[in-house]
Amino acid sequence: MSGLYVHIPFCVRKCGYCDFYSVKCGKDNHFIAVFMKNIVKEIILKSYLFENETIQTIYFGGGTPSILPFEMIETIFNTIRDNYKLSENLECTIEINPEHATEEYFSALKNSGFINRLSAGFQAMDDQGLKYLGRNHSVKDNYRYLNLCEKYGFDNFSVDYIFGYEILTEKEIEKSMKFFADKKIPHISAYSLGIEDNTIFYKKLLSGKIHKPDDEFFLRQFRLVHSLLESQGYNHYEISNYSLPEKHSRHNSNYWDFVPYLGFGPSAHSYYNNSRSWNSCRLPEYFQQIDEQKLFEENEVLTPTDIFNEKIMLGLRTSKGLNISALKSCFPLFFDSFIKKVKSREFVEYFELNSNYLKLNLDGIFISDYIISELFE
Ligand code: SF4
Repeated sequence: MSGLYVHIPFCVRKCGYCDFYSVKCGKDNHFIAVFMKNIVKEIILKSYLFENETIQTIYFGGGTPSILPFEMIETIFNTIRDNYKLSENLECTIEINPEHATEEYFSALKNSGFINRLSAGFQAMDDQGLKYLGRNHSVKDNYRYLNLCEKYGFDNFSVDYIFGYEILTEKEIEKSMKFFADKKIPHISAYSLGIEDNTIFYKKLLSGKIHKPDDEFFLRQFRLVHSLLESQGYNHYEISNYSLPEKHSRHNSNYWDFVPYLGFGPSAHSYYNNSRSWNSCRLPEYFQQIDEQKLFEENEVLTPTDIFNEKIMLGLRTSKGLNISALKSCFPLFFDSFIKKVKSREFVEYFELNSNYLKLNLDGIFISDYIISELFE
């Protein structure tokens, strides 16, 4: 069992909050042709690594995959199909920006026959919010996207939603969550806005053009999103992810379950044989890497301590939690000190233990980054 991730590193423009690697370009940018040549080479180059694996999931992410004409996605998929063994039950997801949701694009998706899951960055359901976030689309585009999903029979899709920014009101959240639930959106990824260095928002924050709300504001909005979605039958199966029954993302769930995966494209990461590897993150260096037939820019073999830390980090992100007896038998050296920290006065109130699985409660999830980093060896 394993997965493949394809990173398409192009965006029409940079959103205010985004710190992912992407290159600003339109559909006719000359970089695209060179990128296509290189990613096809890379997929073939790495195929021997997974010659004994069956691919269960493929994810086209970015950046903005829908910036490419769909025939290019088909070329990439066909290269994968010709060089890897694909499961008959393949989950194949593509991110489509709402402004690219057209009849032509959806008809191509449907006719292709291989895409069976979609993901869209709606981010907000009001134009003021979209403008604040620096998105390149309107709410009308979001509605059109949903109509096209229905028209072309895509019933497995996800929308992203951002909360925790100064102009977002609780009334607006209530309206959006009600809309999502009424429309039976199968999967919702809800993120609180983080302001990372090297983003447009960071500069705006420094110059006082935007303001960061306090923790109380974030917590209220987080609780509101959570309670509205849970009351409508959504399963909060991972820190930022909610799904209706059977509609969780298999691709992302595999990351949390340590399933091996290969990543293609600039900045893409891979994990197999207890090692993590990654590609050059800028296009020119990535082109050079592939030109020199280098599988990865860097490779790191995980030590037992790294593996223990990753197990904790990934396990505590999920609603299932960490299997405590498995952790004890695999990591006897670290286990006692881990449990001591979990039971400490500082952290004990943030955990729940359910038949051998240790998980964070809602307050714990809200500060999970801090708690998890404190539990590391
Ligand atoms: S959020 Fe998505 S669309 Fe916006 S700049 Fe980042 S990768 Fe591109």
